[in-house]
Amino acid sequence: MNRTQFGALAAEPGQRTHGWVRVPGVEPPWEMPAFVIRGRQPGPTLAVTGGIHAAEYPGIASATRLAREVDPAALRGTLIVVSPVNSPGFYERSMYTNPVDGKNINRTFPGDPAGSAAQRVTHFLTTELITGADAYVDLHGGDLIEGLVPFAIYQQTGRADLDSRAQALADAYALDYVLAAPAEALRGTSYNAAAMLGVPAIIAEAGQQGIYDQDSVKRHLTGLRNVLMHLGMLEGRPATGARSKRLSRFEWMYADVTATYHPVVAAGDVVAKGQTIGELRDIFGDPVQALRSPAGGPVLFLVTALAVKKGDPLIGIGVP
Ligand SMILES: [Zn+2]
Repeated sequence: MNRTQFGALAAEPGQRTHGWVRVPGVEPPWEMPAFVIRGRQPGPTLAVTGGIHAAEYPGIASATRLAREVDPAALRGTLIVVSPVNSPGFYERSMYTNPVDGKNINRTFPGDPAGSAAQRVTHFLTTELITGADAYVDLHGGDLIEGLVPFAIYQQTGRADLDSRAQALADAYALDYVLAAPAEALRGTSYNAAAMLGVPAIIAEAGQQGIYDQDSVKRHLTGLRNVLMHLGMLEGRPATGARSKRLSRFEWMYADVTATYHPVVAAGDVVAKGQTIGELRDIFGDPVQALRSPAGGPVLFLVTALAVKKGDPLIGIGVP
């Protein structure tokens, strides 16, 4: 039986509903805007989340647009859209974290029903949205201080059937790069939790720096419609451009000290291992540390803030 509701939000065949869905046990109340669109014909269930990071606007805007535009009469199966997940952070324009417990929601999957607010939210999403879905797409982009080139990530699990279905979702989304994250990659992410449950999933990243830009919205909407067609939930053939370039891992570099950051590369540049990518300087402008790329490959994201704290990410490089 495919999932056809989210929490108490349910739809009859051929119906679209929307409403606020409250996460149990969180005070002050944490409610998320959600849509359930149930096709007239039975079929798979696609779960979509946006706004786990509250200022990644193109993903959030596309989630709502998709949910309003898909015609239940033309849909097979059920589309469930939850966005923004980080609703307490949305009007606060929170970066990375949520304002209730200060955690990065995308480091707390699969969550904990007895944990802090973010852990309860991710437990609720894991049990009430991702479990029982046939596929899951989590919409992101560069955060307020991140330049970014569009890419999708899926988790490699070693289960050939699951990995090929996740890779097919990522390919259908048709962004510039597809990164197959190795098994030891970042725990706590949405797509990792889904993969552990056997649900093929991707994180789709388009947009940057807190800009609500229509080109990135278009990239997300094309990707989402492609996924619906790929799953046989909508008629038609996915609109694919150039084939996404393959990447095999993600190499991040962090600030060793609190300093000012002066990169000399941009998101989308391809760098060589050991190449100078910039410099950290103190507040007087004196050099503190030369920064050399830890790997060769495209710069998938780049922090564009002058101020960085010790431990902050500086750059993420996709390794072919
Ligand atoms: Zn994000």
